[in-house]
Amino acid sequence: MTKDELRQRLEFYQDIGIKTVYRRSASPAPATSHQPPATVQIPKLEPAQDSLLNILADIGDCKRCRLHEARNKIVFGSGNEQARLVFVGEGPGADEDAQGFPFVGRAGQLLTQMIEGTASKEGIPIKRPDVYICNVVKCRPPENRTPQPDEMEICGQFLYRQLQAIRPKAICLLGSTAAKAVLNTKEGVTRLRGKWHNWRDIQVMVTFHPSYLLRPYNQNAKKEAWEDLKKVLHYVYD
Ligand code: URA
Repeated sequence: MTKDELRQRLEFYQDIGIKTVYRRSASPAPATSHQPPATVQIPKLEPAQDSLLNILADIGDCKRCRLHEARNKIVFGSGNEQARLVFVGEGPGADEDAQGFPFVGRAGQLLTQMIEGTASKEGIPIKRPDVYICNVVKCRPPENRTPQPDEMEICGQFLYRQLQAIRPKAICLLGSTAAKAVLNTKEGVTRLRGKWHNWRDIQVMVTFHPSYLLRPYNQNAKKEAWEDLKKVLHYVYD
């Protein structure tokens, strides 16, 4: 294993929450070992020259977790593959599952409005197709429930590869599932939002998920989400 591969593997373990690894001392295997080969599945490394096309091919007709059972379409991501800004949501809803694209339902319309409205007000000439949008899990959770930890862990490896392949100037995490998956934190959005975080040397902003902003009793959060977005757009495009 090269140094680079080792670094990538350690980063992967860190991303899925493994904080400590132990090095086994190099003792030779006994010559007469009748042990069967280990069956533990080692997670795939991120290939050095990764691309979104490769990642999509590796996902294939994915059946790695239970979410495949009820899905119609895998929702990989959409937008500019060389985007300077990537948005990450939680997982597809019914509209996204039917169409195969992220954020195309009501929450998606609000997200589009937030991106394009804020950009236009701030004199930043970008539209939604200029950014890249994806989710933590690529298949719709039944009844739109929150993805479970094992589903996030399995699909998370593809999200990290997407982020690493694009390497935008900033990532905007929409809601607590995206924050948990990328920042490996248990803190809620209210505490995380409005300030910069870091993922593999990429600046990260957390803000409220558009679905949360659609609920009538969360209208105060809208102002804060717009502030967060303003900060991100100026950082990326000024
Ligand atoms: N909510 C999400 O988190 N992602 C989508 O793609 C749609 C709604």
